[in-house]
Amino acid sequence: VMKNQHETEYLQAVKEILDTLSPILAAHPEYIESGILERIVEPERVVMFRVPWVDDAGRVQVNRGYRVQFNSALGPYKGGLRFHPSVSASIIKFLGFEQIFKNSLTGQPIGGGKGGSDFDPKGKSDQEIMRFTQSFMTELYKYLGQDTDVPAGDIGVGAREIGYMFGQYKRIRGAHEAGVLTGKGIGYGGSLARKEATGYGCVYFVNEMLQAKGLSFEDKTVIVSGSGNVSIYAMKKAQEFGARVVACSDSNGYIYDPEGIQLDTVIQLKEVERRRISDYVKFHPHAVYTEGCSGIWSIPCDIALPCATQNEIDEQAAKVLVQNGVKAIGEGANMPSTLEAIHIFHTNGVLFGPAKAANAGGVAVSSLEMSQNSMRLAWTFEEVDAKLHMIMKNIYESCEAAAKEYGHEGNLLVGANIAGFKKVADAMMAQGIV
Ligand code: NDP
Repeated sequence: VMKNQHETEYLQAVKEILDTLSPILAAHPEYIESGILERIVEPERVVMFRVPWVDDAGRVQVNRGYRVQFNSALGPYKGGLRFHPSVSASIIKFLGFEQIFKNSLTGQPIGGGKGGSDFDPKGKSDQEIMRFTQSFMTELYKYLGQDTDVPAGDIGVGAREIGYMFGQYKRIRGAHEAGVLTGKGIGYGGSLARKEATGYGCVYFVNEMLQAKGLSFEDKTVIVSGSGNVSIYAMKKAQEFGARVVACSDSNGYIYDPEGIQLDTVIQLKEVERRRISDYVKFHPHAVYTEGCSGIWSIPCDIALPCATQNEIDEQAAKVLVQNGVKAIGEGANMPSTLEAIHIFHTNGVLFGPAKAANAGGVAVSSLEMSQNSMRLAWTFEEVDAKLHMIMKNIYESCEAAAKEYGHEGNLLVGANIAGFKKVADAMMAQGIV
């Protein structure tokens, strides 16, 4: 704590995990003896760098770039890049730390890492985005490689940004090293179903939780926060499973459409035209837009899928969700519920799908993208989607089994942390004190 005292998000993520590990540490004292805990909370490497670029008005701008290479026990560092003004060392470390356990849960051979910049893509021209990403990659490329570190997208980093970064990496290295980034366009090494993977995977995971209790998405009322990559495809799959999705948001506010969100409009507004979610009501005047995004949790629902950002559900929001009869939470975003909110869900019998399990579908398909790149072939959408579905089912089962084995039956947070930790700890033990 002393070493990282200003890193509140990072300390929150570490506390969430360490608080749940005592049953496995009691069963395996060798983990403590070989310093696994002290080593696992210390990133193997952190790089922080200047990203200078020139805006459309000819002014020099300077942002800060980060890459945290947290743990390579299971494979090359793998984790997304986030471009958002709130990005700091603490945010990137919390995300990188979570990524270690998430990647372990997927069963794929990938270590944990994360990166990004405090650059704000909002309102920037396409040319500015390109100049910034090229400058960012001009420093970052030194640390990357398909066997070393393989970034992907996250908040503010989608196919456009990955494309520009891939182009710059290729230009500097003089080689088409397809497996160095994932989330690429389909025409140059990307995987079908990667765009859909995190949202679809989250709904597959929640579906497993519901089925175990004899429930389903059919006719359920669902709220999904955000309207970005994860959110859009979580809404799509929930609708396909027969749910009525009535609300979504962006960082300015939320829309409530009691007739059910028209996803085509959201995709056109947010994915294609990069507009605000408030414009939805121009096309569907019966829907209501409310300024401020946190109010979304006051809409009564059966299932809530927070898919925007960290700490978006606090204790108060959790209490309101419970009062309104919520049955299940699936965390599409990373750490969207505060520790207090998680406590409220657990003590009120709400099914809780923790982020590192529920949103692991994105990185799992990124790993499948790396496999396709290595084999120089491309699977069909259906093949990738079927593998994703199976991976999410396996993750659910291993969380469930670990929770049961270590005396916390039904607590998927404990299960996810223990199952994710065990594989990494065993690999670290086998590889010696490094
Ligand atoms: P996008 O940038 O595509 O979308 C993010 C959405 O969340 C936007 O609607 C955005 O609104 C909103 N949002 C962002 N920051 C805030 C904020 N501070 N307060 C309120 N709303 C906010 O990102 P993704 O969909 O890729 O990521 C969403 C979450 O899912 C993140 O937590 C990410 O780490 C996590 N995740 C993503 C994966 C992926 O494959 N992309 C994989 C696993 C987890 P606005 O449009 O106004 O910016």
